[in-house]
Amino acid sequence: MSLFAERTSHVSKPLISTINEATLLGFLIGLVPVIIATLIVGFLGSGTITLDGLIEAQKTRYALWVVDILPFAFALLGRYVSTMMASQAGAISSHQTDALRAQTAALETRALHHATHDTLTDLPNRVLLADRLQHAISVAQRDSKRLAVLCLDLDRFKEINDTLGHDNGNLILKQVASRLEATIESPNTIARIGSDEFGILLYDPPSPDVITKFSRRLHKALELPFALDRFNFEVEASIGITLFPDHGNDADMLLQRAELAMNAAKQAHDGFSLYSQEQDRFDPRRLALMSELRRAIEHDELLLHYQPKVNLHTGQVNEVEALVRWNQPGHGFISPEDFIPMAERTRLVKPLTHWVLKRAIRQCAVWRQSGLEIGIAVNISARDLHDPHLPDVIAGLLASSEVNPEWLVLEITEGSIMVDQRRALEVLTRLTSMGLRISIDDFGTGYSSLAYISKLPISEIKIDRSFVIGMVKNENDAVIVHAIIQLGHNLGLKVAAEGVESQEAWTLLEKQGCDSVQGYYLSKPMNSVQIIHWFNESPWALGKEAQRNVAGQAE
Ligand code: C2E
Ligand code: MG
Ligand code: MG
Repeated sequence: MSLFAERTSHVSKPLISTINEATLLGFLIGLVPVIIATLIVGFLGSGTITLDGLIEAQKTRYALWVVDILPFAFALLGRYVSTMMASQAGAISSHQTDALRAQTAALETRALHHATHDTLTDLPNRVLLADRLQHAISVAQRDSKRLAVLCLDLDRFKEINDTLGHDNGNLILKQVASRLEATIESPNTIARIGSDEFGILLYDPPSPDVITKFSRRLHKALELPFALDRFNFEVEASIGITLFPDHGNDADMLLQRAELAMNAAKQAHDGFSLYSQEQDRFDPRRLALMSELRRAIEHDELLLHYQPKVNLHTGQVNEVEALVRWNQPGHGFISPEDFIPMAERTRLVKPLTHWVLKRAIRQCAVWRQSGLEIGIAVNISARDLHDPHLPDVIAGLLASSEVNPEWLVLEITEGSIMVDQRRALEVLTRLTSMGLRISIDDFGTGYSSLAYISKLPISEIKIDRSFVIGMVKNENDAVIVHAIIQLGHNLGLKVAAEGVESQEAWTLLEKQGCDSVQGYYLSKPMNSVQIIHWFNESPWALGKEAQRNVAGQAE
């Protein structure tokens, strides 16, 4: 290979064309002295410039032959210099490309790390732990090995967070994570699976005794006080333990049962507890159902049905309640009254509520865009009310669907506020300051003090359907309904009644001044297609004025 070929072999096409241009330019520059010298010599020889004189000068004057070499010399020089430059440019660009490639690879690795690790402690997160556990289960099944899953939750960590603030709480969590991590030997895995909850996977523990010893070691690791500024803090933990294959054969079930055992340990102040069937308030089929529910949420397999609510003053539907529906392939229809309470006892209720909110808000946007001016009510669980991120999640969903906060109502139960009043009140206050309305669902079944209700930022109470269904035949229920309506109005609240199944109940409620009604008499909950037909056909959807017109036409 020639020197040029060798040099240019790794040079790109644009650079090669630059080399050719430089060669041509060198040749042309060298040609200029040749032409000038030939013209001068030709003129000096014959006293005039003719073509014959110039040819003669080129033939006979040897000095001109030396000058004739110049175009080739300049061409060679041009090519050489430009090749050198091109080669250097090529090297720089290839270096930059390599750097860019390395940067992209580093970014990809970092993104993957973020998806599978907790940002505060840099430990694996719940997703990665569940993934490793599932993989470990398949290997253990094949090799007839055992596994242990430990769930460790800090005791009264909320108090630490509340008194010292979140930043200090985070500093303690980091120290806890480092101490726990130091007790774990490879290939065993520790992960942060909740705010103050850690999950540990032990591969092939030789005996239950060893797991007990290991749990003691975890407690010991947390024994020394934690240092924060000038203060020292004691942190204790409760540990729940499950074993594979004894207590389950999928990752979700083992983790959920470890959490149950951890709660049992916490209640008994035992430090740690091995899962046992008695701790299980649900049978295994139900636990399996929770894994299925998680899957159904992730795969978007749930549905929302909508039940209209009529405003008795205008006779118009201006709101519907979103009610979740789950048609599970193996089990058929499962009532929300069965699976919601189960989800509420696990962390699953949070993704469930987010799914419902997202769907409901999107549906509301679609209706509004098509000119249907209705708001939507969504049921919210106690755990959601203790989640400080809920208002931000809702704000994001509303903004992305361009839904006005006033069109969204959140239905909460009395019980959910009573669990942790201070935190619930904080979340509720933020939600109402965003413009959302809050309704107290199933009113009358809880035990909240009326004085307390009056301090809450709510706009409506919704009388529980058991009183409304009973009010037609049962005098006591009728009295209770009447009292609730009076009470609500005295507190400046709107009063709604659910479970209106008959014309009698409707009329009675209207007479007592109830503001709105919802129930099978008007309509059962419907899917998004059915409700559009209902809106097109039902006189209630039109309002009192339109109803009168419809009635007039019928006469
Ligand atoms: P809820 O919020 O009190 O909803 C009203 C329930 O009463 C619905 O039952 C509805 O179908 C039923 N209902 C409506 N009108 C009548 C009537 O005239 N007679 C009778 N007997 N029942 C009537 P559903 O859909 O089975 O929901 C039951 C409960 O499950 C709801 O009670 C709510 O507490 C919960 N739930 C439903 N969807 C969700 C959800 O998306 N999230 C949460 N957290 N809970 C939900
Ligand atoms: Mg409700
Ligand atoms: Mg209700």
